[in-house]
Formats: sequence, C-alpha cells, structure tokens
Amino acid sequence: MEATCRRAIEIGLPGISFTEHADHVPGVHPTLRPLDILGYHAEIERCRALFPGLRILSGVELGEPHRYPAETAAILAAGPLDRVLGSVHCFDWRGQLIDASQLGRLPLADVGEAVRGYFRELCALVGSGQPFQVLAHLDYPKRYWPHAEIRYREEDYEEEIRAVLRGAAARQAALELNTTRGAVPERGFCPGPVVLRWWVEEGGRALSLGSDSHEPAKIALGFALAAQLAGAAGFKPNDDPAGFWLR
Ligand SMILES: [Zn+2]
Repeated sequence: MEATCRRAIEIGLPGISFTEHADHVPGVHPTLRPLDILGYHAEIERCRALFPGLRILSGVELGEPHRYPAETAAILAAGPLDRVLGSVHCFDWRGQLIDASQLGRLPLADVGEAVRGYFRELCALVGSGQPFQVLAHLDYPKRYWPHAEIRYREEDYEEEIRAVLRGAAARQAALELNTTRGAVPERGFCPGPVVLRWWVEEGGRALSLGSDSHEPAKIALGFALAAQLAGAAGFKPNDDPAGFWLR
C-alpha cells in the first residue's frame, strides 16, 4: 500500500482508494486468504500519516456478500470504510460455485449459458439487502471469455444485464467502470459503451472509475479512455476528485 501511494503521487493522482478484496468462497482460489481487516485498517492509517498530501480512501470489495452475510458483517463492523464495492466473481454453475475466471475450462458450447448464470448471480446481489455503494466490474466474465473463438455480444444478455442495472439504479448504487489494469478494451472495459448506454436508460446516475490494479505499477491504467467513455455516455467528472462521475 505504501508503494502504491508513492506511485499515485509520482503520476499526479490527488487521491486513491484501496478497495481490498473480501472473498469467502472456499476452494475456488487456492491462494486466497481471508482479509486481515484489522491489519488493513492499521496500514491505511500508517499510509495516511506517511502521505498527508494524498487523499487515501479506505474500502473493500465484498465478493458475493449475499452468500456470506455473517462474514460480510464482521468485515464491515471492524472499522469505517469510505467506499464499499459489491461484486460477483463466483456463481452457481450446475450445482457448484465456479469463478468466472474458470470460463476457459468449460466447453465452448456452455460458455454462453455460464455467463447467463453469472448475471443471475449478480441480480441476486443487487436485489439483496447487503450494503454496498458501487457495483464492481459488471461484466467480469468478459475478461475470460474465449474472444478468439466466439464473439462476445452484450446484446445476447441484454435482458439479464438490464435487470441488474435496474436493480442497481433502484438502490442508488454507482456503477463501476473498471479498466482491468489497462487490458485491451474488448476484455478490459467492464463494462463498455453499450452497457454504459443501458445504465443511463435504466436510470443510473453515477459512475466510479477503478483500475483494479492489484499492483502499484498499474494504478489508473486505462483511465484516459475510461474518462472519454464516461463523458461520451453523459457523465461529468466531480469537483471532488475522489467523487463519482455524475449525470
Ligand atoms: Zn473483483
């Protein structure tokens, strides 16, 4: 986190949010460890003292909180968080939870149905009472879609995606425009311009730009293009540089 703050200052960012993963699905990611939320808060405070000129927002990305309400409540009770994201990585696929990053292991013929299952899971998240302000990487499976073999078309999932967007607008959430640490837009812009237009049509008012960097060197990658897309969809930057883009 300290190295990330140094990088933020180096590239001229006025502020940064650390939306640390809080994931609970057992057995999907062998390297996944529970979030040390107390250690996290201590590190936020240490970085704030080290870099008083940088605005440092605390936060978490709650993974499938609707499936893990007790674990989620414990994370949220551990201390104040400036920004809470809700996300889905894992969804029910024929009776077991799989991560969308495993999409490539499925037969090509099943990939479309799996993505439909992902959006159903996302619908359950936005329809739940779980507290989050920002809906993260709406079409996360796009990162792992077999683009070389099949074309990914948002229109094939329009009904499901619009249902998610309506639910997000009804709870007055912001939609994250996630740049996947600078990956090519076809894979990396979660979501892209088509879904941004649907977001506006379904009553969405706010966008949150995130680079999902996971490492200091990648913070804010893709933000120039993200700002263009946000502007083209009718959203304006906030006077507060840590605030949402609004329309
Ligand atoms: Zn995520």
